[in-house]
Amino acid sequence: MSEPTSLRHPIVKAVLSEHQIQRILKAVEDRFEEQVQFLQQLVRADSLRGNEAGVQAIVSNALENRGYEVRSFAIDPARIGRDPAFSPTKFDLKNSTVVVGSKNSRREGGRSLALNAHVDVVPVGTGARWKYEPFSATREGDWLYGRGAGDMKAGLVANLFALDALAGAELDLAGPVQFQSVIEEETTGNGAAMVLAEGFRADAILISEPTGEQLVSANTGVVKFAITVQGMPAHPFEVAAGRSAIDIAIRTIEHLRRLEQEWIAERPNALPNFAEVDNPIALTIGTMSGGEWLASVPSECQLTGRIGFYPGEAASSRAAALEQFLKQAFTSDPLLKGCPEPEIEWVGVKQGGYILAPGSEAEAILKEAHTLADKSEGQLQRFVMPCYLDAAVFSLHGEMTSLVYGPIAENIHAVDERVSLPSLMRVTKAIALFAAAWSGVEARAQ
Ligand SMILES: [Zn+2]
Repeated sequence: MSEPTSLRHPIVKAVLSEHQIQRILKAVEDRFEEQVQFLQQLVRADSLRGNEAGVQAIVSNALENRGYEVRSFAIDPARIGRDPAFSPTKFDLKNSTVVVGSKNSRREGGRSLALNAHVDVVPVGTGARWKYEPFSATREGDWLYGRGAGDMKAGLVANLFALDALAGAELDLAGPVQFQSVIEEETTGNGAAMVLAEGFRADAILISEPTGEQLVSANTGVVKFAITVQGMPAHPFEVAAGRSAIDIAIRTIEHLRRLEQEWIAERPNALPNFAEVDNPIALTIGTMSGGEWLASVPSECQLTGRIGFYPGEAASSRAAALEQFLKQAFTSDPLLKGCPEPEIEWVGVKQGGYILAPGSEAEAILKEAHTLADKSEGQLQRFVMPCYLDAAVFSLHGEMTSLVYGPIAENIHAVDERVSLPSLMRVTKAIALFAAAWSGVEARAQ
């Protein structure tokens, strides 16, 4: 790919003197031990869905101590189903809040910036399979282990300490900055949607998800579903009169696999980055539960899962297409004929995909910042992330330039999740330089 013209004119090096760059990089290094300890504190504050209050209190406190104006707000359930940025859920989140810390610049003029991270984490699975207790935040060599260490509390501390490093170098941003700590990224995206609903906007947003120090060029749209099928219960002695809801569910999965293949085959030429992804649609049946008694033909069975689709289309039209497809399958498949139509509920993320338009100034600055932070002179690579990201909400519903870039992590959502600490330091440096060059800086007032 040819490089954007702006790259031929360094921006970071135009905004910052060599001396200032070195001071910022050193400021990150000087406080890195403290940064890792803060990350450990956040990982130990287990923040599974509905249990984010503890970690958000730590984050609010850290922001207040740094002089941010802090706002904390719950997700407004009345917006679900009315505001297209929100996805459906019935989960009660009244004890969980979104936290946003803001700082205004002393003078007007610099571009505004939002740094975003989510604090919610996914379940650990079987804790006994982990090398270290999943919320112990154990450090081993260059790695920090723990659920949420990589996805994405490391990114959160990178955002916080990147802004600290500017203060450490006695620089203030010349534009307003927001520090966003959201919930619900793993399930609905409604934390990000609520940030928009509360009126927060910025000229650019950077989300420090664990991307292996690469920049996300696009993601897929995602819809999450619960499909309930009904059979005909019966006693084994008259099994012929029954129809197993579990068998119907398995047949339903076979049809959905066919739909997955159809959607993969739509691979648009206009999205060349997707050529490198084997299965961007990634139909995933996450749970299946059915039956009532081990010796009865089961009456009901439920599947939950998610399916992706290429960017450029609204989630509602894909959801309708899936509903129509299953309706058709239940009328045309002889093995399903006569079964009641399946009940389909949308139970989580229902969001389109986004594409990061190439050639933006934000990307050019991040590219330069990345190289300056990485002593190996690595070049920033772009890649497709075929899953949901909160960047979709900010990009599609807030029309914001949304960069997703963060540290190297391994085994996210799996056993022995861990984040690379040298990578975390490099990313913190890159974010600090990016913020400084994006908004501009002025010497700190005494
Ligand atoms: Zn994440």
